[in-house]
Order: sequence, then C-alpha cells, then structure tokens
Amino acid sequence: MTTVTKEAGAPSPADAGAFLSVRDLHVSFKTEDGIVRAVDGLSFDLERGKTLGIVGESGSGKSVTNLTILGLHSPKFTTVEGEILLEGKELTTARESELEKLRGNKVAMIFQDPLTALSPYYTVGRQIAEPFMKHMGASKKAAWERAVEMLGKVGIPNPKERAKDYPHQFSGGMRQRAMIAMALVCDPDLLIADEPTTALDVTVQAQILDLLNDLQQEFGSAIIFITHDLGVIADMADDIMVMYAGGAIERGTTNQVLRSPQHPYTWGLLNSMPRLDSDLSAALAPIPGAPPSLLTPPSGCRFHPRCTFQDRVGGNRCVTERPPLAPDRASACHLTAEQKRTIFVEEIKPRLG
Ligand code: SF4
Repeated sequence: MTTVTKEAGAPSPADAGAFLSVRDLHVSFKTEDGIVRAVDGLSFDLERGKTLGIVGESGSGKSVTNLTILGLHSPKFTTVEGEILLEGKELTTARESELEKLRGNKVAMIFQDPLTALSPYYTVGRQIAEPFMKHMGASKKAAWERAVEMLGKVGIPNPKERAKDYPHQFSGGMRQRAMIAMALVCDPDLLIADEPTTALDVTVQAQILDLLNDLQQEFGSAIIFITHDLGVIADMADDIMVMYAGGAIERGTTNQVLRSPQHPYTWGLLNSMPRLDSDLSAALAPIPGAPPSLLTPPSGCRFHPRCTFQDRVGGNRCVTERPPLAPDRASACHLTAEQKRTIFVEEIKPRLG
C-alpha cells in the first residue's frame, strides 16, 4: 500500500521515506458569505513511482488540495495550515520563487481542459520547449528537439511537423496528449492529473489512461489522479482515497476500496456508476441529496444528511460526533467493522452485480 494516512499531525519514522507527506492540512477561503473550509484535516503519504487516485464529487476538496500542493492558491484570500512535505521540504511556508522552481520541474499538473492551459498564440512545440529551457537550462534548439521527442512519446504522429501547429489545429485528444508532453518534459517526480480525461470520449479516454500508465513506467513519476469517477482509476491507481466535504472518508489499496468498500458514501459512488454488464435500461441509483455547503458544514459525520445507514449506528452519534479516519485501511464511519462487512455483502454487493 502506498498511501498511509496517519492521525493528524502524528509524524512517524516512515515519514522520512515518504516522497510526499500531507499532514493535517486545512485550507480555507475568505468569501463575502463567510469562511469556506475547503480542506479540513487531511493527511496522506505518497511514495515515488506510485499512483494515488483521489475520488469525490465537486466541492469535496480534492482539487483544492492539489492546487495547494502546487502553491497555486491566492495567499491573500486563502489560509493554509498543516504540513505539505515534498522530499522533506515544507511547501506551505516556501517562498513563491521556490514554488515557481518546483512547478514544471519537480511537480507538474495536467488539467481537465487543455485549452485553458495551452496558449492559443504560440505553437504547441514552443509551449513544450519553454519549460525545458527555463528549468533545465537547455538551448532553444535542444529544447525544440526535446519538444518534438516528447510529442512523439505521447503518440502524436509526425511530431516534427505537428510541433509547428497551434493548439486549435489539434483535436481534443491530441491537445490532451500535448499537455501531458508539456507536463512531463522536465521529467517531474510528481504529476498531478486533475480529471484529465473527463472532456474526452471513452475511446480517447482509455488511450490517455494507457499513455499515462506507460509514461509512468518510463519516467517513474508519482501520480495523483483526481477524478469523480471510481471506474476511471480502477486500472490505474495503486491506492484510492475517497474525499467528502473537505476530508478523507475512506482509503485503501485500489483492490480493497473497489472490492470491499467500507463507507456508505463509497457504496453510493459505486452504486451510481453505470456498468456495461448490467441491464442498461435499469435506472442508476444516485446518492440522495447534494454535497453540503462548506460555509456551514453539517455537524458530526458530514455525510449524515445523505446517509441512509445512520439509524444502524444508534443514538445520535452520526449527528454529534465526527468519525475519525484511523490509520491504514480505514473508513471514517461509526458503523462497526462487522456492520460494514455485513451491509456490504448482504445489501450493497448484490446491487452492484
Ligand atoms: Fe452514515 Fe453515520 Fe457512517 Fe456517517 S458515521 S457514514 S452518517 S453511518
């Protein structure tokens, strides 16, 4: 298992070996309506060369966590507490100039929409070559050759010629490949991919996932793959962390989370996924209700207003007491381990098929 979430702020000897350690991270924004607590006490580790899938609905805090790792939040409106250690270096207190050096070099990001990341005014080749010149000190000629090489690596046919094209001359799938080439050009140790295949059709999506897998083998980067769709990361992630309302509510190896999920929210996510082998005319079962406002999050377990299992816990615990996420394989839920197992086997699994 590559992610080991420990109790908030409790470093251990293993921390020394983690490539990325996030400890008791809190991120909040000042808005006109009040303070939005977007991330609320998140801890996880990631090892070099491994892939962590972070899953959750919009507003779960997954993208904010990763923008904070990259230092892409506005310090004027954002308060960050806790630790983000990259190879032992604290990023939450790093100067902008240090973060600037890290971005594109040690850490790179692939966004959902390549059109927002690629400039329409410059050729694709130039946009891939620039970070290589800036971070690796390469000459213009060497950087251009590297850009052509990277376009070839990500499967763009005739890369020597296509490097001279502008982004609008590429298809959506090719733009996404170009952005992956741009992200990997400096051989980063950590690649953060934020819903990188959401805007693509299923065939291209599968090609991009295969490509990321292949490139990870070649470059050995650690990958954080953010998605709202558990199915997308089934073949890709070593570990999965499920987020809800700013915190982690379940984590484990991909096999554990997909084959024996323990949290009612994860059950809901799996239940709402379309399956090719099921009756396609059967209605999907979406999770009732909507994610909570992070201005005024629910008391106790943040999932309680949407949870249909709270009466099995007894008393008022789900409303009054926030369940912790224990170390190692865990889910933040007051149900006992036996209850989780029985409910999953007898009530949830038959519905999943
Ligand atoms: Fe549901 Fe209670 Fe578990 Fe929260 S703690 S997921 S409300 S059963």
